[in-house]
Amino acid sequence: METVADCIFCKIVAGEIPADIVATSTGAIAFRDINPKAPVHCLVIPTEHYENVAELAAADPEVLAELVGLAEGVAMMAADTPGGESFRLIFNNGAEAGQAVFHVHGHVLAGEKLGWNPA
Ligand code: 5GP
Ligand code: ZN
Repeated sequence: METVADCIFCKIVAGEIPADIVATSTGAIAFRDINPKAPVHCLVIPTEHYENVAELAAADPEVLAELVGLAEGVAMMAADTPGGESFRLIFNNGAEAGQAVFHVHGHVLAGEKLGWNPA
């Protein structure tokens, strides 16, 4: 598996730093964001390192679809909250769009009726 030595999310995949992992699939994992912006705020990431969602879509669209499936699963876990099974899935692509970690990740926000509060 390709890893990038300084990548914090590669370290989470490798188990080198702890994370609250809530779901896994063949090529992806979901874990809770350390600084949640909604009652449920998880990150869905591929286990292989791609810099951003555009790069992932070009290289491995099946894994991108896995991220969407994991997001749906995270929202299902929050189905008994005011947000029901609805969820928002956000990919910040590039620093000026707010991307701070350059291992592609989707923010899954759920658990409440969502206003406009970009992650
Ligand atoms: P970005 O701004 O790149 O779209 O989002 C990065 C997200 O990663 C932020 O919401 C931030 O709270 C989260 N994050 C950064 N470092 C860690 C970490 O070590 N563990 C977890 N669980 N989340 C992190
Ligand atoms: Zn990485």
